[in-house]
Amino acid sequence: MSQTKFLLDESEIPTHWYNVVADMPNPPTPPLGPDGKPIGPEALTAIFPMSLIEQEVSAERWIAIPEPVREVMRLYRPSPLFRAHRLEAALGTPAKIYYKYEGISPAGSHKVNTAIPQAYYNKLAGIKRLTTETGAGQWGSSIALAGQMFGLEVRVFMVKVSYEQKPFRRSMMQTWGAQVFASPSMETNTGRGILEKDPGNLGSLGIAISEAVEEAASRPDTNYTLGSVLNHVILHQTVIGLEAKKQFEKAGDYPDMIFAPCGGGSNFGGVAFPFLADKAAGKNVRLVAVEPTSCPTLTKGAYAYDFGDSAGFTPLMKMYTLGHDFMPPGIHAGGLRYHGDSPLVSQLYHEGLIEAVAVPQLATFEAGVTFARAEGIIPAPESNHAVAACIAEALRCKESGEAKTLFFNLSGHGHFDMASYDKYFSGQLEDFHYPEEAIKESLAHLPKVG
Ligand SMILES: *Cc1c(COP(=O)(O)O)cnc(C)c1O
Repeated sequence: MSQTKFLLDESEIPTHWYNVVADMPNPPTPPLGPDGKPIGPEALTAIFPMSLIEQEVSAERWIAIPEPVREVMRLYRPSPLFRAHRLEAALGTPAKIYYKYEGISPAGSHKVNTAIPQAYYNKLAGIKRLTTETGAGQWGSSIALAGQMFGLEVRVFMVKVSYEQKPFRRSMMQTWGAQVFASPSMETNTGRGILEKDPGNLGSLGIAISEAVEEAASRPDTNYTLGSVLNHVILHQTVIGLEAKKQFEKAGDYPDMIFAPCGGGSNFGGVAFPFLADKAAGKNVRLVAVEPTSCPTLTKGAYAYDFGDSAGFTPLMKMYTLGHDFMPPGIHAGGLRYHGDSPLVSQLYHEGLIEAVAVPQLATFEAGVTFARAEGIIPAPESNHAVAACIAEALRCKESGEAKTLFFNLSGHGHFDMASYDKYFSGQLEDFHYPEEAIKESLAHLPKVG
């Protein structure tokens, strides 16, 4: 059998992030202010440090990774690229399957890749406290860890349904020194307002974002951090794709198709965008974002200007959206329940440079279990979406006899998600296709622009 793991040396951690904006056929759509006019960078200084705002609007192809950031990344990077020999055999497919495993980070997912630089740049700007929201707890854990590494206080608004479903994610954040509040909380005007009208509200990412932004905007010592969606977040995640390219070189192979779970789009962009540069140069590689049928942002949403949060505090961003007041059902891939998608991912999808598919919940767990039984690693429920789409393609290859090279991003492990696996094993999980009617209803509330 040929090699299973393709490893890089610490010295091969990328020295620069790759900015896809430099290779896009059209410039990115600008974020708009409440008056419908493009906002300038100064509109964001209440909640972000200038260094990150500059990255947000940069068109430079390569942006240097500061040495203190690379130093913390050495705790877990480079991440391994695996060839899934045992999964290939179990499926009986002629396809070659590879996956990059981001679950080796201390918090267990790719999100640490952007938490570290975000904490670093805030520290450099003299900020003392960071706020954020978290759904499944992956992002909150990552920023708690990064805040600890750079001596910053971290306050996390955790969507209430997850706070109750995942108490150990909360303990993890506390271990790294963060304070965690169930959102909607009594800490902010937004939270208090919602609880007054609806004391049993289980929260949503949109609400938690509103709470974290409100607090950051109202205190000069406090900034806000976001674990996905924004351009600078995707930029930081390109270490995944950049390492993968070196690893494929070592393997003497190159992917025909790349799959990644897609919530806000950062791990998809992180793994796929460095390959998009090759596509722009004529390589034939298909990039597939995989989302849940219960939150089908790219496959069923509208491409329109919308708020990033439910209260409408954020600038308007042009993106695929289900409407900022969309209330996703309590599915178990909490990290994929955001109403919108990264403006960069959205634009590239709109222009036909990338693809998207939606997968129902049961199929994702079935795929995750098949994967775990062959390869050992238990994937996060979010990652199972990419596993499911990749396995479906491998089975199509079995039908057609094609030996395609398939590659997916295993964005995190599922060790804190075993309650979801329990529900799957005991037959308590259901498929949920978000009804067209409900999508139409929330899309009717899109802000009017122009
Ligand atoms: C957050 C998360 C995702 C979704 O990532 P986006 O970058 O927001 O698309 C996927 N997998 C895991 C394990 C996550 O924690």
